[in-house]
Amino acid sequence: MQISRHGNISARVPGTDQFLLTAGGSIDSLRPEQIALFDLEGTLLEGAVEPTSAEIVDMHSVVYRLRPEAGGVVHTHSPAATSFAVAGQPIALIYEAMARFDMTDGVPLAGYGPRGSRESVEEIEKAIRAHAKIGGVLLANHGVLAFSGSAAGAARANMVIEETAVLALNARVLGGAREIPAAMVALTQSRRDEFAAAGVREAPPR
Ligand SMILES: [Zn+2]
Repeated sequence: MQISRHGNISARVPGTDQFLLTAGGSIDSLRPEQIALFDLEGTLLEGAVEPTSAEIVDMHSVVYRLRPEAGGVVHTHSPAATSFAVAGQPIALIYEAMARFDMTDGVPLAGYGPRGSRESVEEIEKAIRAHAKIGGVLLANHGVLAFSGSAAGAARANMVIEETAVLALNARVLGGAREIPAAMVALTQSRRDEFAAAGVREAPPR
């Protein structure tokens, strides 16, 4: 399948109200001069921004303003997730990886507005405010906006959302995906946390 390679990535400068954003080119061939620095209002502080990237700055800044814990934001047109976005359908909690990545409110849908526009950003804001436990939102008729505590985490969130969408679409052939029972979601997360707290297990000396 042909893919657009379209996307953009941002990362908060740790401990500040500033973020770095890919401001031109393609994400598979970035050069250092294609990264620019912004404040949380989306004002350009350092570097240069190409017109198509200037359009989407506020799509990133709104996440950092609403989620102080957000350290990274990734936007892609991942095809399976974007299939839900163009169908106008949110994604439910159907896949264990979503619970492990704290996406227990599923992946909500932000209504359509032109990319990065006030209308679109208002829809993103509504979706984020209405759902505490998410790792991203679907952008109606457009793509995906994923976020996490770091840029690498946001990239993983984007992948989990895409995997979930692929599974949901495949499951439709088999009668549809089933949601994970709420009581089990809590167990899934506590088990994850217990094992993480225990750390690496090593065999005893022989
Ligand atoms: Zn896009």
